Amino acid sequence: MKTDNVTYCTFSGWVDPPRDLQPALTGEQDCQVVVIGGGINGMSTALRLAERGQDVVLLEAEFCGHGSSSRNAGQLAGAPGGDLQLLNLLSRKKMPGMMRLAEHAARHVEEFIAKHDIDCEYEATGNAFAAVSRGQMGRVRRVAKIVTRAGGHVQVGTSAELGIPRGFVGGMREVIGGRMNPGKFTLGMRRVLLGTPSRVFEQTKVTGVRREAGQVVVTTPQGTVRADHVVLATNAFAGEWDITPKHLSVPIYVMEVETEPIDPARIAALGWTSGMGLVTQHAIMENYRLTPRNTIVFGVRRLERGTSYPLPAEKVPDRGIVEELARAFETRFPSLADVAIERAWGGWIAITSSWLPLAGQIGDDIHYSIACNGHGLAQAPYVGTMIADHIVDGVRHADLQTLWQAKPKFPRPMMMGRPGLRTIWAIDRFNDSINGSRRNARRGAAVVQETLQHA
Ligand SMILES: Cc1cc2nc3c(=O)[nH]c(=O)nc-3n(C[C@H](O)[C@H](O)[C@H](O)COP(=O)(O)OP(=O)(O)OC[C@H]3O[C@@H](n4cnc5c(N)ncnc54)[C@H](O)[C@@H]3O)c2cc1C
Repeated sequence: MKTDNVTYCTFSGWVDPPRDLQPALTGEQDCQVVVIGGGINGMSTALRLAERGQDVVLLEAEFCGHGSSSRNAGQLAGAPGGDLQLLNLLSRKKMPGMMRLAEHAARHVEEFIAKHDIDCEYEATGNAFAAVSRGQMGRVRRVAKIVTRAGGHVQVGTSAELGIPRGFVGGMREVIGGRMNPGKFTLGMRRVLLGTPSRVFEQTKVTGVRREAGQVVVTTPQGTVRADHVVLATNAFAGEWDITPKHLSVPIYVMEVETEPIDPARIAALGWTSGMGLVTQHAIMENYRLTPRNTIVFGVRRLERGTSYPLPAEKVPDRGIVEELARAFETRFPSLADVAIERAWGGWIAITSSWLPLAGQIGDDIHYSIACNGHGLAQAPYVGTMIADHIVDGVRHADLQTLWQAKPKFPRPMMMGRPGLRTIWAIDRFNDSINGSRRNARRGAAVVQETLQHA
């Protein structure tokens, strides 16, 4: 695969930044609710609050949609994120609730797109947990049982039965959900928000959140906002203030790349008739999806840990990871090994210690949520909407209750340091090599041994 002419984007490969940037906050403002962060989580919260007649201010450091909301793979998932076997082992009682939440979240986004007529190339194809080996297929079958027992809607089949590329053994189709251009979706949501009476300030980075005289005071370089309630919707950037619960989440940078346009006849020859987005069953997944411009967007495989705040919001994607993604692509799509990667981008996501989305309150006046763990395209807007309703009604929807934290206390996430992440990556490579030749298996074992020595 050619990687010598890649454009390294510091924003997204899906859309250009908006031209109508909103002015920065200057001076003092008062409101009922101030939302910090203008991703799909914060914008949905602000939108719902405005719909419910609340006086809302939204503060966004760059522009609404600058974060992972516009950068993701656009796979609208109808199942929870994370390792479902592990989640089932550790939080079995939560599985039916998580399953309901995931499916309702995907439906919520579909309805939002239809209601506001957002042109984001959405297609309700579903998505597939795709197996790259017989070992992964066994795992897919076990996951399908867990999901079905929890009330989820999935189908297991071979690659031919599911209409996914022949380079995969088979998989599990999540019936609900699909694929979209996430940049167009997010900027579409921004357009809807800007049409409401809520006050949106972009280019306004919040530097502090404190309580004063029965209100919450949010400070920014050129102004302050006093409000009765604050919603922290900054995703991976949540750890920047003292008020944020310790160990709420870990910031992780993940990447996507996009091929050059591919001859439609060559795409047709892959047998990818369903057009479903795919996620492999590695501990750190690979994802692959088609786009309407006859390209394939694919990514992740490696997680880069953010080690200190402030996180670099305009980080340049790593060349080494582009090379690695290219090698993986050649294995999964050997007939396209001559295709070039045209662009690369990435973004910050938040991973929680339980790998579950969560939401809660700090006192009566500060709400937070991390509806992400790599599955926030569906869950972040849904959770944001439910948080808004909770602020207005004081009642928690059953799906919000599923992820609600009684106390804002979180254990330190395990295996999320750089050595831990490298070890997980090495085990994936070892498993890949077992599925190749015996010589590869020896190489894989050497990778694990070397990684453990460095860890
Ligand atoms: C490469 C990649 C691929 C992904 N693929 C998928 C996928 O296929 N499917 C899926 O479901 N999910 C996917 N995700 C995850 C998904 O994109 C996120 O879960 C979701 O977008 C989170 O939305 P958010 O609004 O919480 O966060 P964000 O979109 O990150 O928004 C947070 C906002 O807060 C702002 N902010 C930060 N600090 C401050 C501050 N101090 N003051 C004011 N504003 C601030 C930021 O500028 C940003 O705009 C992917 C993510 C990435 C990066």
